[in-house]
Amino acid sequence: MLRAKEILNKQFGYSSFRFNQEAIIRNTLEGKDTFVLMPTGGGKSLCYQVPALVFEGLTVVISPLIALMKDQVDALRVNGIKAAYLNSSLSFSQQEVILTQLHNGQLKLLYMAPERLLGGDNSFMQFLKNIRISLFAIDEAHCISQWGHDFRPEYRLLSQIKIQFPNVPIIALTATADALTKKDILEKLQLYNPQVFVSSFNRENIHYFVEHKRNYFERIAAYLHLHDKDSGIIYTFSREGSESLALRLQQKGFSAKPYHAGLEKERRESTQEEFLRDDVKIIVATIAFGMGINKSNVRFVIHADLPKNIESYYQETGRAGRDGLRSDALLFYNGADVNKLRHFSSVENNPEQTRILMNKLNKMAQFCEIHSCRRRFLLNYFGEKAPETCESCDACLSNYEKEDATILAQKALSAISRLNESYGLNYVTDFLRGSKSGKIREEHKSIKTYSAGADISKQQWMTYLKDMIALDLIEQSCGEYPVLKLTAKSHAVLKGFERVWLVKSITPVNTKRDETDKGPVSCEIQLFNQLKDIRRAIARKENMPAYIILSDATLVELATYLPASLSEVRKISGFGDVKLDRYGQAFLNEITVYCQNNHLTSRISAKVPKREKHQH
Ligand code: ADP
Ligand code: ZN
Repeated sequence: MLRAKEILNKQFGYSSFRFNQEAIIRNTLEGKDTFVLMPTGGGKSLCYQVPALVFEGLTVVISPLIALMKDQVDALRVNGIKAAYLNSSLSFSQQEVILTQLHNGQLKLLYMAPERLLGGDNSFMQFLKNIRISLFAIDEAHCISQWGHDFRPEYRLLSQIKIQFPNVPIIALTATADALTKKDILEKLQLYNPQVFVSSFNRENIHYFVEHKRNYFERIAAYLHLHDKDSGIIYTFSREGSESLALRLQQKGFSAKPYHAGLEKERRESTQEEFLRDDVKIIVATIAFGMGINKSNVRFVIHADLPKNIESYYQETGRAGRDGLRSDALLFYNGADVNKLRHFSSVENNPEQTRILMNKLNKMAQFCEIHSCRRRFLLNYFGEKAPETCESCDACLSNYEKEDATILAQKALSAISRLNESYGLNYVTDFLRGSKSGKIREEHKSIKTYSAGADISKQQWMTYLKDMIALDLIEQSCGEYPVLKLTAKSHAVLKGFERVWLVKSITPVNTKRDETDKGPVSCEIQLFNQLKDIRRAIARKENMPAYIILSDATLVELATYLPASLSEVRKISGFGDVKLDRYGQAFLNEITVYCQNNHLTSRISAKVPKREKHQH
């Protein structure tokens, strides 16, 4: 492990392992098989990259996405690590060069797609048998399972690895796997007595906000104005939505471009490239965008339309803040979106599938309706316990004015009961308000609770009823036309055994975020922006995305601790020996000038010995 720590420090510039990483690496170094379930941004790559450098021979990394391979290899190379990838984007002669390097033992890591490893006449497998392989790392391991959401048939081939290389340990990694998928991965890869490591799925640095979808264009524009230096993704439901929103944002002067499967391949690739290089700040995309986006400084993910289920929402919002800095997830919600999606969730001639999809959609809607901690809701959804509040979601940060609404709740429940639990939200509301329109059936008008709540606005009734659904006092059925039903809890309220407190009004939170505000020592914002410019210039020159040169987290540290010498720069997280050598001086010069102009001196002594926060 000593060697592993040394590599972490010298090559990657980090001083300690994150939660779980150390145990995972230890297990791998002992030559055992390992399964890792860790959320996006948790630090999966280091779990095999560090062992790869400790081991003598080659580590083969299987990855499904060609675009990601280049990224990963670039990131390793700027740290001075000998890595390469083999895929169809390389010319024949480029591939020859790599094969020669492999033959001569000049590479530590090789990235490739599964079909390249095992396809065709198996000749590559034979080739590998003649060189020393220390470890196989299977990234995005859920792709092997049909139960996963991203099944790739070619991943099935990977079961051959254990047969062909029984003595080489395997480490399988993924960010998404339920119990079934996990079991499948372990079986299909034929892992031998694997040690399983599961991390918490809490993404502490992502703050969750849900807003009503009223004037949402103005709201989005206001948010973007507040954060005009940041990169982010806005998700829309349709291709047309992506086009029109991008256009409106451009007209307002924002650096935004659309991205969806309907655009030509070249255009999509160039847009993605511009985004990675920070030349375009905002991508307005359908769900077609995101797989394989490794950009670590995505500061916000906005959902302009409702996602279909919590799984998608979590995966999409998870693309924010891989670098660990404060990031936002913002969702605009209204009932109309739920109805629209309900329509799309119904699968013809498959009631079972329809029921599952509707249920998932209802959960998504419920997430938006609750007035309690959203993070807790998400974690519970994925089967994890969480504290009552997180203090970093809109529900925890808002001021809710609650009132004793027992009488109102009783009226609503009684109405639902009298209507034989057969009517939906709108009808029940109109009924309670005593709507005179022809919508209310004649025979219902003689029921006692008809118009019992005429003094309350429709909007307010909706809020109350949704709040009651979130509190499990009312159940909203599944299906295309959901109806309101009583629950076990309703009866206690109807009988007067229990009082009900409902939200009356909400003072919304301010979404102004300042990721550079970290603790007692403050970051020099102006310097931070200057350093970003330097990074961008270097990235241009080296033809690489900026975040591969240095992460935002590293720039924030530089602009906070103001190192005054190269040896002080080396103490900044993310500056390994090679990066220090290559880029240290350029950043140091900028910092020195800034400090002189502003009469500042080094604050490096305020930097507590780098201890990564435990991810729990
Ligand atoms: P994942 O693959 O799990 O989504 P990555 O491997 O891309 O996550 O890691 C996310 C970020 O965290 C990267 O910028 C990585 O360099 C950084 N990181 C990982 N481990 C550590 C550590 N021990 N100390 C500091 N930063 C780390
Ligand atoms: Zn919360």
